[in-house]
Amino acid sequence: MAALTGAWPVARLTVRLRRGLHTARKLHHQRCVRVRFAPSPTGMLHLGGLRTALYNYLFAKSNPGGKFLLRIEDTDQTRLVPRATEKLEEMLSWAGISPDEGPSQGGNYGPYKQSERIELYQESIKVLIQNESAYHCFCTPRRLELVRKEAGRRGETPRYDNRCRQWSSSEVKEKLARNTPYVIRLKLEDVAEPWDDLLKGRTSHNLADAEGDPVLIKSDRYPTYHFANVVDDHHMGITHVLRGDEWQTSTPKHLLLYKSFGWDPPRYAHLPLILNKDGTKLSKRGDDIQVEHFKD
Ligand SMILES: [Zn+2]
Repeated sequence: MAALTGAWPVARLTVRLRRGLHTARKLHHQRCVRVRFAPSPTGMLHLGGLRTALYNYLFAKSNPGGKFLLRIEDTDQTRLVPRATEKLEEMLSWAGISPDEGPSQGGNYGPYKQSERIELYQESIKVLIQNESAYHCFCTPRRLELVRKEAGRRGETPRYDNRCRQWSSSEVKEKLARNTPYVIRLKLEDVAEPWDDLLKGRTSHNLADAEGDPVLIKSDRYPTYHFANVVDDHHMGITHVLRGDEWQTSTPKHLLLYKSFGWDPPRYAHLPLILNKDGTKLSKRGDDIQVEHFKD
């Protein structure tokens, strides 16, 4: 203690602490809360989705300068529904949830539809290929099916065997030059790095135990949900992700993506599932849980 006070007189120490606190507060205010609701446009909004939107909205509004964004995740070209975005916006506005930024409101971080941000994902994936966090997979659907079946037969989790990690850059170039179809996968790490969930505390999940290297870019050049979601959250300055429990097992994948890019991740909070009266999980199907059902 004597040595400490000798080097740092108490008064000086207090001033430094106060300055530190002041800087921390200033930094905190510079980075106002930004949250998003990011549904796929299916044409319907169910209660679970509305609850997620509401929590995000309330969280934004309870923080000075907080912003609530609506982002439409429409990169799955097989699931497009006409007028789905408009219907979603109508539902949110009926519930009194109005986004500060979104496809209709605009904003400085747009476009707010993923199908209009494809170039960003294509540029971003180059970074991960370059730093070897991601790689080209040339496996045919038939091979993938066989690998899965074989694993199942051995009583293991059916998953991709990460075979294409082995190709050298010249082998990859050669295959690309021959126009071999491919997807791009993320190299999973065989560790379960824990994270601090705002609701659940210290949480961890070893992905590599449960699945093979996940696809980031599909063979049609469109990004998968996980990739586009992380790239957009980063570029839209999202500070907190409040989402349903069902996404918790994907969080390590998202954190690994942030790490691979060298970006700071947002804070995560996973909301418990909405249950039926008898404690069973509320299904996503059925009219009675569609918000539209309560509207008239
Ligand atoms: Zn492969």
